[in-house]
Amino acid sequence: SCDAAGVAAAVRSAADVIIEHRDELVTLDREIGDGDHGENLKRGFTAVVSKLDTAGDTPGAVLKLVASTLISTVGGAAGPLYGTAFLRAAAKLGQESELTASSVVDALQAALDGVVARGKAEIGDKTMVDALAPAVKAARDSDGTDIAAVLTAAADAADQGAQDTVPLVARKGRASYLGERSAGHMDPGARSTALLLRAFAQAAS
Ligand code: ADP
Ligand code: MG
Ligand code: MG
Repeated sequence: SCDAAGVAAAVRSAADVIIEHRDELVTLDREIGDGDHGENLKRGFTAVVSKLDTAGDTPGAVLKLVASTLISTVGGAAGPLYGTAFLRAAAKLGQESELTASSVVDALQAALDGVVARGKAEIGDKTMVDALAPAVKAARDSDGTDIAAVLTAAADAADQGAQDTVPLVARKGRASYLGERSAGHMDPGARSTALLLRAFAQAAS
């Protein structure tokens, strides 16, 4: 199980990973977008870490603070989308004081539903949905009784999903302006989703 402090620690690890991968995400976004994805997320997660001490005493309260901070600091397409993801996950968890494997699956599903409601991307559009959707399915199918197993299954599927965006032609976001020329590059948002899920899985293990 995992309480608010455990979730805050996992968010800190996720911030470290995003900051470590800032240049990689910038490079990916330079290839098919405007080159700011790594910097946008680094700015957002740095702000998140600076506020984590005041995050509250439930997992949902921590994730709600993550959401509002990302919404106000990340910008671009990814800011509102990740903000919505964390906000929906927080709402799903409600006042629950300890995460369980099944509440983690439900929170991941809620996050995906929020991203899709907001961004209207479908699987195959070459967006973060291509990492998050298979991650949710794998989490559900993992039948994991512990949180680490659920999140590891999700992270593995997200890695594969991000890899699978390489040949796709983008149909949403800035990359879609490139049309066919967007093929041959990994989607930066799918990559950042995979990095976040891996960080959460490692924090839970
Ligand atoms: P911007 O493109 O506005 O500069 P970012 O570079 O921060 O924003 O984020 C780009 C990422 O956002 C893309 O790689 C893609 O994964 C994701 N994205 C863009 N539009 C959508 C959408 N409609 N639905 C889901 N994800 C999207
Ligand atoms: Mg960008
Ligand atoms: Mg931008």
